[in-house]
Amino acid sequence: MQLTGEQLIGYQVVRGKGRELLAMNPHDQQAISTPVFTCATGDLVDQACELAEHAFDPFRATDPETRARFLEAIADGIMGLGSTLIERAHLETGLPVARLEGERGRTAGQLRLFATVLRQGRWQTATFDSALPERQPLPRPDLRMCKIPLGPVAVFGASNFPLAFSVAGGDTASALAAGCPVVVKAHRAHLGTSELVGRVIQEASKRLELPEGTFSLVAGDGSDVGQQLVSHPAIKAVGFTGSRAGGLALMRTAAARPEPIPVYAEMSSINPVFLLPGALANRAGSIATAFVDALVMGAGQFCTNPGVVLAVEGPDLDAFLARAGVHLSEKAAQTMLTSGIHSAYAQGISRISDEPGIEAVASGQLDSGINQAQGQLYQTAFANVATNAGLLEEVFGPAAIVIRCQNVEEMLAFAQSIEGQLTATLHLENQDLKIAQGLVQAMEKKAGRILINGFPTGVEVCDTMVHGGAFPATSDSRTTSVGSTAIERFLRPVCYQNFPDILLPAALKQDNPLNLWRQVDGKPLAPSR
Ligand code: NAP
Repeated sequence: MQLTGEQLIGYQVVRGKGRELLAMNPHDQQAISTPVFTCATGDLVDQACELAEHAFDPFRATDPETRARFLEAIADGIMGLGSTLIERAHLETGLPVARLEGERGRTAGQLRLFATVLRQGRWQTATFDSALPERQPLPRPDLRMCKIPLGPVAVFGASNFPLAFSVAGGDTASALAAGCPVVVKAHRAHLGTSELVGRVIQEASKRLELPEGTFSLVAGDGSDVGQQLVSHPAIKAVGFTGSRAGGLALMRTAAARPEPIPVYAEMSSINPVFLLPGALANRAGSIATAFVDALVMGAGQFCTNPGVVLAVEGPDLDAFLARAGVHLSEKAAQTMLTSGIHSAYAQGISRISDEPGIEAVASGQLDSGINQAQGQLYQTAFANVATNAGLLEEVFGPAAIVIRCQNVEEMLAFAQSIEGQLTATLHLENQDLKIAQGLVQAMEKKAGRILINGFPTGVEVCDTMVHGGAFPATSDSRTTSVGSTAIERFLRPVCYQNFPDILLPAALKQDNPLNLWRQVDGKPLAPSR
């Protein structure tokens, strides 16, 4: 497949008339000369949004099987790109080939998971309250409810998952599954990767004769193209993964529209790890090794990277720090995704190092090249953090702070006061269960996922996964951006009262043509076929 640097607007391939954009190789910070990308101008963004608006009714009218086949065709197409995709993604992101191959598998797996979700049909939540004509003092009408798609969705590709959270990533897969057309804003950190995947979606859409406008891909500046997308009246919801500043800017724009729309933004999280006394006494060394491995994985560029560790002062914590320090000092520096992310990391660690009361524990091996991140581990006293909330701002990269607490009450106070998080982790033994109860109770109110005796990097894509959490981890703690229930972000319930069968959506028709499990008068009812 030949890259051209053009925008994909419905079924068309159009050269944007905005300024030129070149993809960059973060390994050497040299521009990748081919192709030359250009930014979309306002007319193209309008065209993509208007096509999406026109596509909405026919696309949502497609049966779930058609959309399932569409998602499977995208998955097959992505796998079919073979090494072309992996080589381009490696060139643009600096991520190792093995990691990108794994991420490609996850991306295809996500698309196939949503195909299964579509076939199972639970997402429609078909629910019936039968008419009670004889009820006194008033009869009850026939009431039926199911979920329908919200409308066209704007998706912002994430820098740190060029495949699994970008053009055909979780936001796009769940929105298309719901029946929402999607307009993606490509992330500038992987423009060619975005075009390759975008072309696969465009091809699949054409082949299955889906309405033009089911999918478009635009490139350009967030402050221009991104803002225009979120302001466009055709767009009815937004999916975003990135910085807190970027997410907040999009939330403000969406809220200020004449018709405000939901923004599902996944922003910042430091993913606290609580080492309880029994666990630390029994296995300080092995926890330290696993912690450092998780910290530096992917140059720390995971939203679930463990950025803060809490434990009670004493020789066990000293042993943990000593082992973690030795292990970190053996870790090589790694290339970060972009020069911007690298300089934000450099600023972040310089800000932490300059704070009073912060002590460096260890560093990874010296960075020897462009955009390379050296792992950093710091320690400080709980009292220092309690008076300096800035220490708890996300530093995106392989840096973490160990907070030395005087007692478990300080750990609990930390859990009660920390901002919303994607994850919280407890390392514990049986003797720690009582302390754990308080921490779990506190963290349930903040985190989307709570783990015992593990590390949060590595998010399983499945029915039970919650990749969410209270603000600022996300803009809406009621949802998840990973896993099958991510589809719920792009659906809304509609109640149909006293409808003749012919006017009802298929999910609610009397003879159950979609063969769904349905809830009838409070009881689940299996499909008859
Ligand atoms: P970002 O700067 O938030 O950008 C993400 C996307 O949003 C880009 O397409 C960007 O377009 C767009 N955007 C940003 N600000 C916008 C605005 N005001 N209006 C409209 N669109 C806007 O994130 P990033 O480029 O991925 O990385 C920068 C930093 O984000 C990192 O250093 C890290 O701190 C954080 N980050 C966090 C996570 C996480 O999961 N917690 C993941 C990735 C990044 P432009 O590129 O054109 O501005």
